[in-house]
Amino acid sequence: MSSLIVYYDEIGTKSGNRPYFEKRLVRNIREGCPSLRTASIRRLYGRIFIETSEDLDMAATSEHLARVAGISSFSLAQTVETSEEALNAAVDAIELPEEVRTFKVETRRSEKRFPLTSPEVNQRLGARLQARSGWEVNLSNPDFTFHVDISQQGTFIYSGKQKGLGGLPVGSNGKLVALMSGGLDSPVAAFKMFRRGCKVIFVHFHNYSADTRQVRDKVVALVAQLAKYQSTSKLYLVPFSTLQQALVTVVPPKARMVAYRRLMFQIAEEILEKESAKGFITGDSVGQVASQTLENLNVIYDATSYPIFSPLIGDDKNTIITIARQIGTYDISIKPYDDCCTFLVAKHPETKMRLQEALRYEERFDNEKYCTEALKETEVLEIG
Ligand code: ATP
Ligand code: MG
Repeated sequence: MSSLIVYYDEIGTKSGNRPYFEKRLVRNIREGCPSLRTASIRRLYGRIFIETSEDLDMAATSEHLARVAGISSFSLAQTVETSEEALNAAVDAIELPEEVRTFKVETRRSEKRFPLTSPEVNQRLGARLQARSGWEVNLSNPDFTFHVDISQQGTFIYSGKQKGLGGLPVGSNGKLVALMSGGLDSPVAAFKMFRRGCKVIFVHFHNYSADTRQVRDKVVALVAQLAKYQSTSKLYLVPFSTLQQALVTVVPPKARMVAYRRLMFQIAEEILEKESAKGFITGDSVGQVASQTLENLNVIYDATSYPIFSPLIGDDKNTIITIARQIGTYDISIKPYDDCCTFLVAKHPETKMRLQEALRYEERFDNEKYCTEALKETEVLEIG
């Protein structure tokens, strides 16, 4: 009989609330993958087993599992009897691919009643396979690894191992609101928080008068790509143009970028509260652009009393680009667009804004009226 055997690492460090994380992981494995909707998925100490039936779409299932946060690796495994004879027979049945020169046997043994220790199993099966294949043992970087997992629930053998995302299951650590532009950084920031177990709600501010549907389509495409990591995603599209047109009459060009960003948080606070989210995510990285100097970030982040998480804060652009490529957002993000943050701003914005100054502009502006109006016209999409 074959099954998919799924391993996790970080959940394993949890003690009392481990079942909570495991149950969430099982739920996330099932959701977002049509061929797993009715599959039998069992939690057995330290592992999750997915029974594979004939109609299981393996390619789609693997693609899905590779995106489920919390999984460290997964493999297609065979169940064998828990005995040395059965393991010998399994070794004798291994197909010997032409291109393989080196190998190792890797055994886990949580069933302590099995008479051989893990190193003993490695040695005996290794010697047997070596005699049959002529391959050399290489423990650090073998061409082929034969895995043996001897547990109370049975003995499983497998060779291929696919790497998972690691981290913790989405939803196990609450909800956050991500401020999403159409750029490179904010999608990567949201992805990093998926891996920490956070469910993410997306909020995008648009100035369609500057650039009609192009930005909207782009943000929808980005959220759809990210939805693959949390099955479905909610996107709030907040109109920003009326508000920006009013704001530019009271804020000088050099200070507008910071003013826009402060207002975004003030509006998004209502969405956060409605969603019972616990904080914000942004794609800020210190010094990357004028709005991200330490002085300006201080003034911007002062706009809300909710915590703001910026997981890229210490990353350089190359690191961010590498992740964007891995998660499939890079090609969407690099398409040209006008972010509403650049609406009528100075070519060289202020890089050392003072809070007093930002507050002085806001006194001349009817925040509440414009925020309420913007929220009234906000569109909410369910994507994925
Ligand atoms: P990004 O690549 O994420 O667009 P950036 O380097 O272009 O970032 P900014 O334009 O200063 O930097 O934006 C910084 C952060 O502010 C973004 O990462 C995002 O969290 C938020 N933000 C900017 N524009 C918008 C927008 N139109 N709607 C929602 N959030 C935004
Ligand atoms: Mg941007």
